[in-house]
Amino acid sequence: VITLAIETSCDETSVSILENGRWVLSNIIASQIEQHQKFGGVVPEVASRKHIEVINQVIQQALQESKLDFSDVNHVAVTYGPGLVGALLVGVAAAKAIAFARGIPLNGVNHIEGHIYANFIEDKDLEPPFITLVVSGGHSHLVHVKDYGIYEVLGRTRDDAAGEAFDKIARALGLNYPGGPEIDRLAKVGDKYAIEFPKAYLEEGSYDFSFSGLKSAVLNYINSQKMKGNDIIAEDVAASFQRAVVEILAEKTIKCGIDKGVQTICLAGGVAANSSLRNHLKDLCSQHGIAFKYPSLKLCTDNAAMIGCVGYYDYIKGLRSPLSLNAVPSLKLGEGL
Ligand code: ATP
Ligand code: MG
Ligand code: FE
Repeated sequence: VITLAIETSCDETSVSILENGRWVLSNIIASQIEQHQKFGGVVPEVASRKHIEVINQVIQQALQESKLDFSDVNHVAVTYGPGLVGALLVGVAAAKAIAFARGIPLNGVNHIEGHIYANFIEDKDLEPPFITLVVSGGHSHLVHVKDYGIYEVLGRTRDDAAGEAFDKIARALGLNYPGGPEIDRLAKVGDKYAIEFPKAYLEEGSYDFSFSGLKSAVLNYINSQKMKGNDIIAEDVAASFQRAVVEILAEKTIKCGIDKGVQTICLAGGVAANSSLRNHLKDLCSQHGIAFKYPSLKLCTDNAAMIGCVGYYDYIKGLRSPLSLNAVPSLKLGEGL
């Protein structure tokens, strides 16, 4: 099966060509980050317009790099939620047009499921069941992947997503959008024990997360230092904040893996690119004899290959989306069509 996959849920226009879901022939990512940087975040109207401008070009590029053409493609996959409605609609419209014109099957894909499936592309031998920590710009979930397409969400954030916290703290420190990679970079040269920020573990046994208290504490610290006329050591703030986030995420994840008795834990989503989170979980997993996997950097953040992988597994299960497929901005994991 040759899948053409499209991802336009936020600020990346991406198209990938895959063979049998796990083998990536091309994965083109046109990032709009520069367009949004001057606003300090993604502007939805700008995102939609940019997707429209580049989508056809990105499709052509993906085909070219895969050395295939439209007649070789026999399946289309596209993100239909969650995400920005105007942005999603660009990808959905393009995917439906291709499926209709070529008379080939279409699968609408959940973006968060895509982040999880990046692990199947990274490791061709990986099979469910496993526990995944999905940490991205808009989501923080602990998910038990019981089989392909069968999920139990065991924990979720009650307020901010992990990536959102990284982005907001970065902004307060005067760093560029997106803030995660910037904090990661600064933290490497900062003292992670310089400041003790509060960590919310919530009720005993809960796998939920809460980052708003931590975020407020860091913002208060920055403001109070400014008011006192003190210099802020951004490296130390970044490292101390990152330590708090990473410790909460890693400790809850390993506990979840042990409680559920799984042999494998995977990381997924943009924050899975964080070097400290990877290292910390790697250590914890090896201490407990649990295998630990994470996607390469390019597969952590938004890309169409991960969407194609989900679409392929849905397709071989016999699932199909109708040509009336619409964008669903607040689509939840495990709430398919
Ligand atoms: P969602 O997937 O929830 O819809 P999104 O698609 O916008 O949101 P992703 O592209 O998955 O989010 O991830 C982007 C997020 O990952 C941003 O918040 C960014 O700051 C964060 N991020 C990227 N690299 C790193 C890093 N090295 N350390 C921490 N965070 C990072
Ligand atoms: Mg993005
Ligand atoms: Fe994402």
